[in-house]
Amino acid sequence: MLLVEDDDAIAEPLVKGLERQGYSVHREATGIGGVDAFCSSAPVDIILLDLGLPDIDGYEVCRRVRSESLVPIIILTARGDEIDRVLGLELGADDYVVKPFGFRELIARINAVTRRSQNTGTPSDDITHLTGDVIIDNRTRRVTVVGEEIQLTRKEFDLLALLATDPGATQTRETILEQVWDAHWYGPTKTLDVHIASLRKKLGDPTIIETVRGVGFRIRASLGSENNS
Ligand code: CA
Repeated sequence: MLLVEDDDAIAEPLVKGLERQGYSVHREATGIGGVDAFCSSAPVDIILLDLGLPDIDGYEVCRRVRSESLVPIIILTARGDEIDRVLGLELGADDYVVKPFGFRELIARINAVTRRSQNTGTPSDDITHLTGDVIIDNRTRRVTVVGEEIQLTRKEFDLLALLATDPGATQTRETILEQVWDAHWYGPTKTLDVHIASLRKKLGDPTIIETVRGVGFRIRASLGSENNS
């Protein structure tokens, strides 16, 4: 992976930690250095990108990389406000973590983003079309229902995207909590039900997401293979 971060105090322990996890990490301390490294060295699977860099900022790095590639990008930001988040995601970043972040949280986001990119592959595969005329764009993380965009929180999107990877297939509560929340989620599982309820409301059709009692949830399979749960 490529880490673009100018602050040694963050970058050095991060590189060590990631290497302990088995990742091979190339670090650059400037935006230009990051773009050059991305364009000229061996292909990277993921980019971790700081926003505040000494030359060009992370947004510009993101824009330049995106003009070349759909490589997953996770923004590391101290700027937690909504505008920064939206701008980063609009420029094509896949996710972000707000500093100070826990190492485990970062690993969970890396795993989630990597899984998504493996699920999608080429740009045309980034679009998932579900029953009820729900269209999910995994790259821009936008969702439309009958042509109208709906606003989802990050978790709601991740949840929908996970269910949408295999319509008709049940995702267990454990799988969902592990993949959307954290590999070590010990909080109340009611959180999942709250998110499902909110998602159903926003989708406008509560039957799109089916409850499989005692097991988990699934997206209603389209055309002629409908099941009651
Ligand atoms: Ca910085």
